[in-house]
Amino acid sequence: MTIIKGISALQENVNFLKNNGKTIGFVPTMGALHDGHISLITASKAENDITVCSIFVNPTQFNDPKDFEKYPITIEADIEKLELAGTNILFLPSVTEMYPDGFDKVPHYDLGVIETILEGKFRPGHFQGVCQIVHKLLKAVQPHNLYMGQKDYQQCMVINRLIQIENLGVKLHTRPTLREKDGLAMSSRNMRLNEEERKNALTIYRVLNYLKDHIEKESIAYLLDRSNLMLTDNNFRPDYVSIADAETLVPVENWDGHQKIVALIAAYQNEVRLIDNMALD
Ligand code: AMP
Repeated sequence: MTIIKGISALQENVNFLKNNGKTIGFVPTMGALHDGHISLITASKAENDITVCSIFVNPTQFNDPKDFEKYPITIEADIEKLELAGTNILFLPSVTEMYPDGFDKVPHYDLGVIETILEGKFRPGHFQGVCQIVHKLLKAVQPHNLYMGQKDYQQCMVINRLIQIENLGVKLHTRPTLREKDGLAMSSRNMRLNEEERKNALTIYRVLNYLKDHIEKESIAYLLDRSNLMLTDNNFRPDYVSIADAETLVPVENWDGHQKIVALIAAYQNEVRLIDNMALD
């Protein structure tokens, strides 16, 4: 695996490969890698000649400075996992490489309604930050294919919009959420959970399954009340529990049994904010 820290060196490398007819798959991450990340590498390797992974903890997408400060960094272990998975290039830029003019002159993207609901509402500025970094990374890597996780459901929708409005000509592949044996969605933030918090964290998966099992039997208002109770009973402070249209994320009040819908949850276990989602139909 080649490790590259500068944008121009990366571009030189990728251009050479593309000029030789190679297809490029790209997996952007913030490191602290787990099997969920590696599943994206594996998917990219199956469909491309060359797989590029980036590790960059992007300051502009953290609306909570404490969350940024405490974001886990495990670079040595990450490099080992990426090598083992057969990654070809690791792009490992510094903050000044990605933001040479600081954070004042960053662009603003017209993301529409999607930025005002759920994650957008509870993490103001988060999706602008995500777009700023993913746009820069896509310009640097110029991949044919981009791989992201369904765990960040709304993020995938935002990135699809970014690709459209900026005409980036890359295809987004959304991959299923990898889970721990008991069902907890894998997440870098899980490392921050103590033993008790880790036990409680499973409630999110339980609630999603409860919603899936009961969506045909109970009203949505009742299901949302029950879900919030289940979460608070297990020491969670929910930001939201939503049952929403799978394509727009507009909340659904009455389900007709046909509409594609998804349940989405964001909640704090003490200081650690976890998110997860599940298709309900
Ligand atoms: P992050 O490092 O959290 O920014 O995540 C990098 C990429 O990995 C994003 O596209 C995530 O959606 C994806 N990802 C995170 N957790 C999982 C998971 N449990 N299963 C599959 N993909 C994931």
